[in-house]
Amino acid sequence: MPADVADSPDKILSDVDAFCQKLRPGEELCYLEHRFNDQLVPLAKKHGVLGLIIPKSLGGRGADAVTYSKALARIGREGTGVRTFFSGHCSIGQYPILRWGNAEQHTRYLPASVRGECILAFGLTEPDAGSNPREMTTTYRRSGDHYLLSGMKYLISNGSIAGAVVAFGYPADATGDDRRISAFIVDTKGATFQSERLTAKPGMHTADTGMFQMSDHPVPVANLLGKEGDGFRIAMGTLVSGRLSVAAGCLGVIEDCLEECMNYCRIRSQHGKLIGKHQLVQRHLAEIEIARATTEGIVLRAAEAKQAADEKPGDAAAQSSADLLTAEAKYYASNAAWQAADHAVQIFGGRGWSELYRVGRHLSDVRVCRIYEGTDEILQLKIASALLGKEFQAFS
Ligand SMILES: Cc1cc2nc3c(=O)[nH]c(=O)nc-3n(C[C@H](O)[C@H](O)[C@H](O)COP(=O)(O)OP(=O)(O)OC[C@H]3O[C@@H](n4cnc5c(N)ncnc54)[C@H](O)[C@@H]3O)c2cc1C
Repeated sequence: MPADVADSPDKILSDVDAFCQKLRPGEELCYLEHRFNDQLVPLAKKHGVLGLIIPKSLGGRGADAVTYSKALARIGREGTGVRTFFSGHCSIGQYPILRWGNAEQHTRYLPASVRGECILAFGLTEPDAGSNPREMTTTYRRSGDHYLLSGMKYLISNGSIAGAVVAFGYPADATGDDRRISAFIVDTKGATFQSERLTAKPGMHTADTGMFQMSDHPVPVANLLGKEGDGFRIAMGTLVSGRLSVAAGCLGVIEDCLEECMNYCRIRSQHGKLIGKHQLVQRHLAEIEIARATTEGIVLRAAEAKQAADEKPGDAAAQSSADLLTAEAKYYASNAAWQAADHAVQIFGGRGWSELYRVGRHLSDVRVCRIYEGTDEILQLKIASALLGKEFQAFS
């Protein structure tokens, strides 16, 4: 990865905060109308927050993993849908190109992604390959100076707005257990690439979740990411980045629930006193605060491990520490946020169970964090086998 000076964490985080403040009114309206917020990308561009992890030499801000996770926690307060856009575009879109791409791929894709001219996505999941990506059926074959990709990718964040997707497939002519997945940067233009937005969702109504079909879709040979056969390693390495982003976003959800509840406890009265003076309501507030404090700790620990791994890409111990600690943080934070949002909705009573209030939106939206980027179950198995050793792996 190119290394150069970075903007200061304070400047980056204050720009992210300004972006979030400007975004909020329009975002709330779009959520109520269940539509993608067209102002998201222009506002993010204006505030310089589309390239937080991209080096300054490529037009970005050069944030390290700790600063980036704080930025995503701030963005997470605006909703899991908004944070998911950033996870898709930055953590699992820009990151694999930055980490495994060559200089020519960097200059072709990353500055345009920072300017918002090329939204990115990560296409691993398929209708019949979710928790086990090795069961994917997408294939590629070489034709002159292109690869032709065929297959369907499903449940892809930014999947119907992306200009390019990091997508994965097997060689069409390979069979058996030793065939290996490759990764490609796939431009989404042309009749051989058909995408559509998935709208039947119980939350994240402003986020773009899409699917796409590739039918002998031509991808220049120059767009192979890493070497042929590196795809699985690239996908798993990218999920380390993605899981940290989910965990950090969940911290933001908890922080926002806490703030909303503290305000509401001070204005809503029942039985002749403010509800904040009812001891059982205070119990809910205490649970949210404990979730906030513990999640903050586990996210910071994971971000520091990821930062150490980024600084030493050849250090296997640093990589596996980041792999484990981000999995732990993602599992813990997504469950803590789900429970915190549930406590928050309880404090708001009937108003809480409504899209009109932030806590109700958080509850609907944050549930998906226990599913994408590794389900609860897959992460539990990963954590347990890391403790017990490779011979205890439930699956390979
Ligand atoms: C809103 C949204 C956005 C997403 N964004 C992206 C994206 O940008 N890119 C992308 O590639 N994917 C994305 N996904 C897909 C997501 O990563 C998958 O949904 C997830 O990995 C689970 O796969 P699945 O849905 O096929 O469930 P399955 O794999 O079918 O799992 C079903 C259930 O079985 C359990 N299970 C499966 N295998 C085991 C096992 N060995 N042991 C124990 N339990 C097991 C699972 O934990 C789960 O409870 C997104 C999903 C959603 C909902």
